[in-house]
Amino acid sequence: MIPRFIKNMTTPRYEIKTARQASMIPHRMSIPKKVTLLCSESVDNTESCLLKKGDKVKTGQKLKLTETSQSYVTSTITGIISSLYPYTGDYGQTYTAIVIEGDEKEISDDQFKTVYENPTLKNAIDFLSNAPGAPQLELFTNPEKPIRTIIVCGLDSDVLVTTNQFIISTETEAVQSGIEVLKKITGIEQILIVVPRNVVQGYGEMGAQMKAVDEAYPATLPHSVIWNVLGLEIPAGKSFEDLGIAFLSAEAVASIGRAYETGQLPLTKTLTLIRKNGMQTLITTRVGTPISDILTAFKETVNDRDRIVIGGPMRGTCVYREEYPVLPDTDALFIQDRQNITLASDYPCINCGECIRVCPAKIPVNMLIRFLEAGQYETAADQYDLYSCIDCGLCSFVCVSKIPIFQYIRLAKYELSRSQSSEASNG
Ligand code: SF4
Ligand code: SF4
Repeated sequence: MIPRFIKNMTTPRYEIKTARQASMIPHRMSIPKKVTLLCSESVDNTESCLLKKGDKVKTGQKLKLTETSQSYVTSTITGIISSLYPYTGDYGQTYTAIVIEGDEKEISDDQFKTVYENPTLKNAIDFLSNAPGAPQLELFTNPEKPIRTIIVCGLDSDVLVTTNQFIISTETEAVQSGIEVLKKITGIEQILIVVPRNVVQGYGEMGAQMKAVDEAYPATLPHSVIWNVLGLEIPAGKSFEDLGIAFLSAEAVASIGRAYETGQLPLTKTLTLIRKNGMQTLITTRVGTPISDILTAFKETVNDRDRIVIGGPMRGTCVYREEYPVLPDTDALFIQDRQNITLASDYPCINCGECIRVCPAKIPVNMLIRFLEAGQYETAADQYDLYSCIDCGLCSFVCVSKIPIFQYIRLAKYELSRSQSSEASNG
């Protein structure tokens, strides 16, 4: 593997919209009549499943598939389970979709209320793993990769998205409470808050060191942020945790703060809707809300060959059904008109070099893509620097042959991680 470090990065060049440029008053969606929750586990034997069609559930109730399940979801409405079915996500990840039809009357589950006055890492993991912002609290439990620094990110990881900038600007108290809880339950004192440089003056005291970062894309991506605020390189193939760093979104930290302040689990996700006409609107809605509810509320029609993208224009992923739900980490919903879609082609690479010039990690993308197209992922990783890629998507954006380079990169990383985990589990 050729080691390429983040300090070699080229200057970022794509302006990102800041929350103060975008509308700061979110549109609050009403409580959905139906939610779909995706549990990252599949049940082979329905007899062993703790959840059954027809079961009543309360708002905030923790739902596990089996007694021994590590994963769970949190019901975001009160109602009845109307179906449970296997769901296959991107690149073949398997989930169980739990569909809940809502009742008129909302009843809150009070399990969290019994523990919230005494915050611990265990009860945070037990109740907040599916909170808005998807706090990755398990990162703090690995003795082989002790975390020494927490970065709270008030930036967004795609152009046109303003979700975390909005949270850090408007939910200062919740973020501050979340930081206090994090210090208490993890014992980590080094906590940094990262905010956009042009609006840094507007933030008050939040109980952690404030760092300002240029909001030009891709400087807002975690690899760049870590280099800019800590001066640390993430060597190719290493994770942030390998360097003792945990990266949490501002929304995840605000969720932790709100939960331990009130004893109520946060259930409402903030996301940026990017409409076909390019307008952006912030929305708050319950986790599990079908995208179709949002489209209806905004009278946005998805026609044949339009695209529904979860995430922003550079890094988002297409979904194919309007019933797809808002998830705890859904920061943006981008509806793309078919007239604005640049279709991928099967033209070969013409070695124009545009992708290499734009790549912030200086990867020889023109060579990398040849091996990815041939399915030679290990060679791509060993010789052409696949693991230095920071997933910015700029190479696809500029490719004159319209090769879906970023999709090839994601598939390759996924396939390699699958083969590594199956090798590890086979001893
Ligand atoms: S997505 Fe493309 S441009 Fe971005 S770091 Fe990876 S290879 Fe480079
Ligand atoms: S931009 Fe596209 S065509 Fe040009 S060198 Fe890169 S992969 Fe090849």
